[in-house]
Amino acid sequence: MSNAKIGLIGLGTMGAALALNIADKGFDIAVWNRTTERTKAFHDGAGDLASRITPTKTIQDLVNAIAKPRAIILMVPAGQAVDDQIAALRPLLDDDDLIIDAGNANFHDTNRRARDAGDLPFLGIGVSGGEEGARFGPSIMGGGKRQYWDRVAPILTAISAKYKGTPCATWMGEEGAGHFVKAVHNGIEYADMQMIAEVYGMMRDGLGMDHASIGDVFAKWDKGPLQSYLVEISGKVAKAIDPDTNKPMLDVIVDAAGQKGTGRWTVIEAQHLAAPIPAIEAAVVARNLSSQRETRAAGEALFGAAPHHIPHDTVSLETLESALMAGKILCYAQGFGMIGKASEEFGWSLPLPQIAKVWRAGCIIRSAMLDDMATALAEDANRNLMFAPRFADTLKKTHSALRQVVAQGALHGIAMPALASGLAYFDAMRTARGTANMIQGQRDFFGAHGFARMDGGEGHHGPWGS
Ligand code: NDP
Repeated sequence: MSNAKIGLIGLGTMGAALALNIADKGFDIAVWNRTTERTKAFHDGAGDLASRITPTKTIQDLVNAIAKPRAIILMVPAGQAVDDQIAALRPLLDDDDLIIDAGNANFHDTNRRARDAGDLPFLGIGVSGGEEGARFGPSIMGGGKRQYWDRVAPILTAISAKYKGTPCATWMGEEGAGHFVKAVHNGIEYADMQMIAEVYGMMRDGLGMDHASIGDVFAKWDKGPLQSYLVEISGKVAKAIDPDTNKPMLDVIVDAAGQKGTGRWTVIEAQHLAAPIPAIEAAVVARNLSSQRETRAAGEALFGAAPHHIPHDTVSLETLESALMAGKILCYAQGFGMIGKASEEFGWSLPLPQIAKVWRAGCIIRSAMLDDMATALAEDANRNLMFAPRFADTLKKTHSALRQVVAQGALHGIAMPALASGLAYFDAMRTARGTANMIQGQRDFFGAHGFARMDGGEGHHGPWGS
């Protein structure tokens, strides 16, 4: 039998959900998993969709079960597993069969795999939305040759999330462009989550609020301009009760955040590109710091406990909401700025407005604000988002709240690395005469690096030696 429309390898959390989604949208799919028991369990649990799914026991069976020209999705851990699966598949495939890596690959690996594939069809696509997104509609960021994207676009757009009817699946560009955009998405996600965690810290430690009340605040914010999946789930997380202890879940969860590396990749790449993304960097650093629990406990014993309560009249809940709004705009401005820089550097022509559009639904950072961002980027993709009139107006109204929150955090020992970095970025970006003249003076003093003069000309040197 060779009539499945598409194949999929890797029936873990994401692969299983994606396969069900594909079958649900009416496409016959053949699946294979390294551990055969998982394939059987998956098929047994597929319910009404089982008739659209062909389970296979070997890769050869999988290949045989797919209609030509074939398309096969890999949903296995990023790295060696992807290379191994490509190596196992290629000898069994025809020259026009397409391999699609839909995991969280480092885009440099996707660039390499696309080049190694030569004329053999290969796509690297970023899929966001976690298990639920994969099952009911993820946001999909495609990369590779356009004609290969077009071949599978009907399936990928059908299974993707829809924002007011518009599919959240777009081709981003050649080679690793899709995985690059997915990595920046994850970097923004880190910063968005960290900023929410910081305002949570201000409510819990600074204002002494209990978790139920904090949950109510997030639920309220989710109905306003901060409406977003992350604010919504933060409210639910804050309100949840541990069935074993009857305490708030947040009281029983260890305060050390994990990561799989995509945030770190974003930060490393930003350094290569000289793209300023301080809020995202701060969020990655905050996760690293969070894992140093013993050192933090020793620090508290040595220096005394922070934080201290802050007077309620200095930071109201409205001030916190405005601060989070300002922080979020600045974080997205940085993320889109980095994408713009990469677009130039790699010659990708990354479609910034479309990127904002595919993030409007399905993915973890989906939010009301992204629709406005898509509009602002469509007006002028090269302009920093913080200068787009609608966001400039909001920043004019909210940056003093951000300043107030960061200042009170600093005064009372409540660490706010991402919000503070966002504020520093804002202040730097609205300071026409900065302080790098001092850096240039120092560099010329010790290294004769030369500097440009305000009254004209490059390569000047100071009178330091005299
Ligand atoms: P899981 O750990 O749930 O599943 C991994 C799957 O890959 C399993 O089917 C496993 O098979 C298979 N596998 C593991 N190693 C190999 C190998 N060396 N060769 C062949 N198959 C292998 O992972 P996820 O589904 O969570 O993630 C899959 C990909 O999707 C990753 O790249 C991940 O980063 C990405 N992703 C994950 C998201 C999430 O929220 N979980 C969101 C977006 C992307 P077996 O049953 O034999 O162990």
